[in-house]
Amino acid sequence: MAKKEFKAESKRLLEMMINSIYTQREIFLRELISNASDAIDKIYYKALSDEGLVFNKEDYYIKVTADKATRTLTIEDSGIGMTQEELENNLGIIAKSGSLAFKKENEAQDGHNIIGQFGVGFYSSFMVADDVTVVSKALGSAEAFKWESKGADGYTIEPYEKDTVGTIVTLKIKENTEDDQYDEYLEEYRLKSIIKKYSDFIRFPIKMDVKEQ
Ligand code: ADP
Ligand code: MG
Repeated sequence: MAKKEFKAESKRLLEMMINSIYTQREIFLRELISNASDAIDKIYYKALSDEGLVFNKEDYYIKVTADKATRTLTIEDSGIGMTQEELENNLGIIAKSGSLAFKKENEAQDGHNIIGQFGVGFYSSFMVADDVTVVSKALGSAEAFKWESKGADGYTIEPYEKDTVGTIVTLKIKENTEDDQYDEYLEEYRLKSIIKKYSDFIRFPIKMDVKEQ
């Protein structure tokens, strides 16, 4: 499978994320939950105008699972999902809004301010993870795909198995180093407090499961 390169601008943002300072890392979860919520919203609004599509509220929630044995954190939603093309276009290049803001601020400010001021989006995953996979099945699509990246040097997309419509983002949480702590992103109390701090207004339930070792 050929590895594809990120666009130059995305690569710079990614590198900034990878080298972010620790006080800002926690916002990755806000970004992933907001994407999950947006994806459910998209199904919700589609159902309003599409008689063939019924929105059962209880089927729509966001699930955050931490697994200490595998050092993975997953954020799963039953939202609208992404086709192969959408995985490519939405995750391979940074979102237009974010990229514009990045360009403007980049002249005068450092990465610290950029991360603090803007919704940096999906790439913020790389602040805490050294491997990110996104398995997704789009509404109305028979196939699912897996997008995977270990950082700035590129990403791959391949067909994958997934029965239900929606998206599962899996972060392989970085190992602790002498200077940097990442274990906390697998701890229930820590995850709960981040969710409370940034995602309290999300209108779909956020469920949590922490698998201890
Ligand atoms: P933004 O949310 O500002 O558009 P992001 O970097 O957070 O930027 O996400 C980029 C795009 O990737 C989103 O606009 C959306 O199209 C797609 N995306 C990300 N996460 C999901 C998800 N869980 N379900 C469906 N689409 C997603
Ligand atoms: Mg977003």
